[in-house]
Amino acid sequence: MKPAINHPGIPGSSGRASLRVYLLLITLIVLVIIFFRMPRPCQEPLTYRIGTVDARFGLSRQEFADSVGKAASIWGKPYARALFREEPGGKIEINLVYDYRQEAADKLKKLHYAIGTTKGAYDDMKVRFENLKAEYERENSALASDSNVYHKRLGAYNAEIEAGRQRGAVTEADYRRLTAEKGELNNMRENLQARQEELKRIADILNSMTVVINDIATNYNLEVVKSQDTGKRLGSEFSGGDYVSKDGKQTITIYQFDDENRLVRVLAHEFGHALGLKHNDNPTAIMYRLMQSDSLSLAPDDLAALKGRCSD
Ligand SMILES: [Zn+2]
Repeated sequence: MKPAINHPGIPGSSGRASLRVYLLLITLIVLVIIFFRMPRPCQEPLTYRIGTVDARFGLSRQEFADSVGKAASIWGKPYARALFREEPGGKIEINLVYDYRQEAADKLKKLHYAIGTTKGAYDDMKVRFENLKAEYERENSALASDSNVYHKRLGAYNAEIEAGRQRGAVTEADYRRLTAEKGELNNMRENLQARQEELKRIADILNSMTVVINDIATNYNLEVVKSQDTGKRLGSEFSGGDYVSKDGKQTITIYQFDDENRLVRVLAHEFGHALGLKHNDNPTAIMYRLMQSDSLSLAPDDLAALKGRCSD
């Protein structure tokens, strides 16, 4: 009789191996199920709840909740259903915090400004503020005059194109000259736009500095600085709110707004971030980085980003 083949020390090893394969398979199946059941923004509404509502804004909890609801509904419109739902244990906490000074200070800290609450800090900040403001004003007037030159040249170019169109013929030489001019005009426009962006960046810093300087000034009874002489545009460049997702906690915090429309708009912007959307370059869009428009509807850029996110 042939002895049964047996490997001492590993009895039943083939049975164990198949058990391991089995377990691995089950784990994989469970993972796949979990992955596909994960709520996605466009399949199941993201839930939120109202957190702190600072009374200094003069809004009741209900009024704030109404604005939040309006902002949330903006994103659901293209799908004709809600992408967000308010419920008591909602995942995203939405707060209204009277904390614009902190925001301004944090912005400057990111730019490596020394932030302090002493008279010395005030003096340092004030010198930097005056220098930066002078730079802003210089560049602002240079930009205005260059922009004038550009618009005159553009006008002349358009008039010549129109005249040629009416004559029905353009000489070869004129055609070449006009093509070159068009190229130059495009370069000029790009240059002006880049400078405009840089000006906005400086205005934003000036705005934050104003807040920080005046905060210290109040404590020491020192002279406050005004930023309104650099234009009303300054005031609209506060981001006004933020969306933070950290350690499994999601928070939307609103710090500043001028009126209800702006509140809804900044909330809608932060909800966009909660959906996973980034900033876009369309100044009228909800997801533009600044508040330059009062529109409460999604711009084509917002819609495209949303659709992209939803088809993930
Ligand atoms: Zn943003």
